[in-house]
Amino acid sequence: MGTKKIELIVPPRPAHFVGDGFRVHNFIPSAYRLNMERMTPFILLDYNSSHYFPPTDQVRGVGVHPHRGFETVTIAYKGKIAHHDSAGNSGVIGEGDVQWMTAASGILHKEYHEEEFSKKGGEFQMVQLWVNLPAKHKMSAPKYQGILNDDLPKVALPEGGGTIEVIAGNYGDTQGAASTFTPVHLLNARLNAGASAKFSFPAAYNTAVLVVEGRVIINQEEKVNSDHFVLFEPKGEDLDITASENAIVLVLSGAPIDEPIAAQGPFVMNTKTEIATAIQDFNMGKFGYLEA
Ligand code: MN
Repeated sequence: MGTKKIELIVPPRPAHFVGDGFRVHNFIPSAYRLNMERMTPFILLDYNSSHYFPPTDQVRGVGVHPHRGFETVTIAYKGKIAHHDSAGNSGVIGEGDVQWMTAASGILHKEYHEEEFSKKGGEFQMVQLWVNLPAKHKMSAPKYQGILNDDLPKVALPEGGGTIEVIAGNYGDTQGAASTFTPVHLLNARLNAGASAKFSFPAAYNTAVLVVEGRVIINQEEKVNSDHFVLFEPKGEDLDITASENAIVLVLSGAPIDEPIAAQGPFVMNTKTEIATAIQDFNMGKFGYLEA
């Protein structure tokens, strides 16, 4: 028991473009504190804060690229993202939907704005989170979980306070929609002004929240603005979030994967030798084929 205290509040860093479709603030991995070792199993978090994209006939996005050794989780808050991969999976991630893609042994994919959204233009807001895989699963077969918002288990808070969407792990007795390889809790708290929600995670889990919309007060003392990221100390179990105005907060907590991390670009393995093999396999076409 005991309160999980705030270790760090991180304002959004200057945005950069991933391809021409994703204008992101990177929170993980950064040189200061939020590195892969500290944040394991979360090894990357890119946040596209709400940004207006004007109408275009040229679909914006990121072209064909590989991944190996981890999972990519895409959460759409505004706008629509489309996706194709070399395992034959494709889909559209609409507002409130989640895509959980296990790259594992290797995949090629492309990520871009959905065609109709591109033509109309509009506000676009999303999160991409990378979840590491332990050594024994890094070379597992790729997998794809497309989760519509309607299929996300939801917990109603008392007195109309809002909803907790359980993407992975659990909230109370409610189990999340996505299956994971190691223990990960990923929750979207949609809180109405004045409402509070309590969360409890094992002390040693790496735990953070991203305020996607609105302003909140954490542990009844710390005010946090939208687009800010909050890291908690890896001790204590309980935290609470109170919405100062209608708010959406992404809550993440995961069991550390206590293994060495070797990361280079789109590959995250345990050793440099495995990275070299990944690059060689990619260059030899072993990740399959996907039309540009
Ligand atoms: Mn990707």
